[in-house]
Amino acid sequence: MAGNVDGGEVRNKQVLLKDFVSGFPNESDMPFTTSSVSLKLPEGSSDVLVKNLYLSCDPYMRNRMSKPLRPSYVDSFQPGSPIIGLGVSKVIDSGNQNFREGDLVWGMTGWEEYSVISSTESLFKIQHTDLPLSYYTGILGMPGMTAYTGFYEICAPKKGETVFVSAAAGAVGQLVGQFAKLMGCYVVGSAGSKGKVDLLKNKLGFDEAFNYKEEPNLDAALTRHFPEGIDIYFDNVGGKMLDAVLLNMRIHGRIAVCGMISQYNLDNPEGVHNLFNLVSKRIRMEGFLVTEYYHLYPKFLEKVIPFIKQGKIVYVEDVVEGLENAPSALIGLFHGRNVGKQLVVVDPE
Ligand code: NAP
Repeated sequence: MAGNVDGGEVRNKQVLLKDFVSGFPNESDMPFTTSSVSLKLPEGSSDVLVKNLYLSCDPYMRNRMSKPLRPSYVDSFQPGSPIIGLGVSKVIDSGNQNFREGDLVWGMTGWEEYSVISSTESLFKIQHTDLPLSYYTGILGMPGMTAYTGFYEICAPKKGETVFVSAAAGAVGQLVGQFAKLMGCYVVGSAGSKGKVDLLKNKLGFDEAFNYKEEPNLDAALTRHFPEGIDIYFDNVGGKMLDAVLLNMRIHGRIAVCGMISQYNLDNPEGVHNLFNLVSKRIRMEGFLVTEYYHLYPKFLEKVIPFIKQGKIVYVEDVVEGLENAPSALIGLFHGRNVGKQLVVVDPE
């Protein structure tokens, strides 16, 4: 918690990126510092000052830790500066007419107790406060929108189709599987532990699930689960799994390329060998970025909030307490330590 320092300022604990990372990130890449912040914005400011309540750990943050070699879809973090990520925050002071003291928001903020946000166009005001606020790091925030966009917009699903989801027990995957079940599809998920496989089958309603780490032959595992082939693949991992899926796709299948977490820590990404299946089976494989679909956010909430309230969808969160545990929580994503959406409680209010 922040304590008072002189001149109406409070202490502000922060997580920095020490330097650009290659390979898997370590806790030593993310040291802590304490600065101070005034709880009043200067006269004439158009910024928003927030207190961060929940921070989100997301795989794409690894891409922002790398030295930028060419223009990318996201800027790299600045070494020596606080890490930036999505979070749920409370407005303490605002020079921006769209936000008032006391408002709850989700969007880009800093890995620190208090943040001064200048790019307010990335902030969403939270209107529905009768659901857990932490959900705005997950099912009601960016990962929820990703599952919704990737499944309904990119995969163009139809009732009765067969759907495969990788990293299925994570923030995005668990929702894709549940959306697919609600649509009347046959759904199989892959995940990296027995506990996650049980969760998929017994709590999240997947028809089947398997532990990819225990399968000596991914092609054979997929053929076993999809003897008639896969209509839709929601790809969260890329790499060897994508290659095996290509062999098992059906004619006119769709692959939504959401992410490739298996490649994010490799200096030399693996090749994909079975791409000719795109031609021979007339498969549509399409990458997407959720940020291009944020205009659908109100439509998304209209669909998902009733699903939550009626108990048609459940959401599994992996919650760690305290900013001091944020670096290890983020690193855990790349070792499969999280079960469900990984988030950090900075201040539960
Ligand atoms: P998540 O699934 O909650 O967490 C990451 C999971 O990935 C881990 O728990 C782990 O689960 C799995 N994993 C880690 N390393 C792996 C490897 N080498 N091979 C296979 N699986 C591995 O993360 P999320 O937030 O839902 O994100 C899922 C994917 O969606 C990521 O690729 C992310 O970059 C992408 N994404 C894309 C967009 C977009 O706009 N396109 C938006 C959000 C997220 P296991 O135990 O199963 O290994």
